[in-house]
Amino acid sequence: MRRPFVAGNWKMHGSRAANETLLAELERRLKPEWPVEMVVCPPFVYLADAARQLEGGRVGVGAQDVCAEPVGAFTGQVSAAMLVDVGCRYAIVGHSERRRLYHEDDALVARKFAAAQRAGLVPVLCLGETLEEREAGATEAVVARQLDAVLSIHGAESLSKAVLAYEPVWAIGTGRNASPQQAQDVHAFLRRRMAAQDATLAGQVRIVYGGSVKAGNAAELFAMPDVDGGLVGGASLSADEFQQICAAAAART
Ligand code: PEP
Repeated sequence: MRRPFVAGNWKMHGSRAANETLLAELERRLKPEWPVEMVVCPPFVYLADAARQLEGGRVGVGAQDVCAEPVGAFTGQVSAAMLVDVGCRYAIVGHSERRRLYHEDDALVARKFAAAQRAGLVPVLCLGETLEEREAGATEAVVARQLDAVLSIHGAESLSKAVLAYEPVWAIGTGRNASPQQAQDVHAFLRRRMAAQDATLAGQVRIVYGGSVKAGNAAELFAMPDVDGGLVGGASLSADEFQQICAAAAART
């Protein structure tokens, strides 16, 4: 049985005061007995504070991005080792906002994936098609290309310490989630693609869905056999919504 995984991507939201309140509320609401890996991903500048506040608890801390290089003259960048140093255990790589707004391509995402793993972080690798690509019937080709960029360089084994996040671009921040069946179809495709290289591993890798997940649709999405949890944007800024989403993931087990 794969352990459900739910991560909140706070994007560029928050303040020291607001974060402290939200995290205290999450610590109060997220039940330690839920068999769910729960993670929050605040902006870089708040990671150390968040890790300190959550230390020893049930909620892990992740970054929203990571530099592909280990150290050096890379103004504005944050290395994987620095993230580990301040208490992070995860890093999102290849989020569609990074791919689209900051022109990150598959090769760079694969390097970020490897940099995160080398430092001991669990990469959360985001994959997903745009609306135009879906309408052109290219969804599988797009996510296969994005997955293969990592598989071909780092091998299937590298996915044993990673989480995949299927995030259709048209569903992110739009309020329009993929239907449970649309999500299931892509997750099953990704699992088959991994299975072609390593069937045992393919059965173990968590594939979570992201794109307008909220309290009202989490249970039906997580009821699908290959949907192992969620990567949650907007709804993760509400303790009540995030609690209900984590509860829906716990009910899956
Ligand atoms: C995301 O940013 O990864 C995301 C899925 O956002 P939202 O839940 O707001 O669609």
